[in-house]
Amino acid sequence: MEVRTLVLGLFQTNTYLLVEEGEVVIIDPVSKPDRIQAKIMEEEKVVGILLTHGHFDHIGAVDDLAELYQCPVYLHYEDYELTQDPQKNYSQTKKIKLKTKLSFYDDQIQLGHYRFTIHHTAGHTPGSVCIEYKDALFTGDTLFKESVGRTDLYRGSSQELKQSLRQIAKMDPDIIIYPGHEEQSTLAHEFKNNPYL
Ligand SMILES: [Zn+2]
Repeated sequence: MEVRTLVLGLFQTNTYLLVEEGEVVIIDPVSKPDRIQAKIMEEEKVVGILLTHGHFDHIGAVDDLAELYQCPVYLHYEDYELTQDPQKNYSQTKKIKLKTKLSFYDDQIQLGHYRFTIHHTAGHTPGSVCIEYKDALFTGDTLFKESVGRTDLYRGSSQELKQSLRQIAKMDPDIIIYPGHEEQSTLAHEFKNNPYL
């Protein structure tokens, strides 16, 4: 398993490409679809796009890439309204409203040979999720290295975030986290150094 990272957009958000057995899953296509496409080899097959939540700085390239690769796009249903309203996803100038038909997560989803476990971790947004595959956890804006996401935006909740962090605190410390912003970490490091956990 390989994880390729691109840092894109106004808020320096991470787009991740998960690559294994010639199949690619795009997690949070931020913006600049051509730059994301350039990181995918011609012989590799994109089997899906997964979103950690509906904020504009995580979804800007969804429509272009879903059309290009003709693949499904998954999101938690609680964040659907964010993808349909520029005010709720905070895309002031670009006015992002996704046109792609979105699929909603189950607890487990299958894409190509990948089987993902989806953890609903509300707080930053009502439909924030952490996406688990093998020893990797893509945490979006729920959990950062030594910090957590803000809860003062539309339908954010510090109470819900606390509950979600309790759920993460039970996970295997060997897990590597890939947050929506800044660098990766391990849960072991976070259990020791993250004041919110
Ligand atoms: Zn966010």
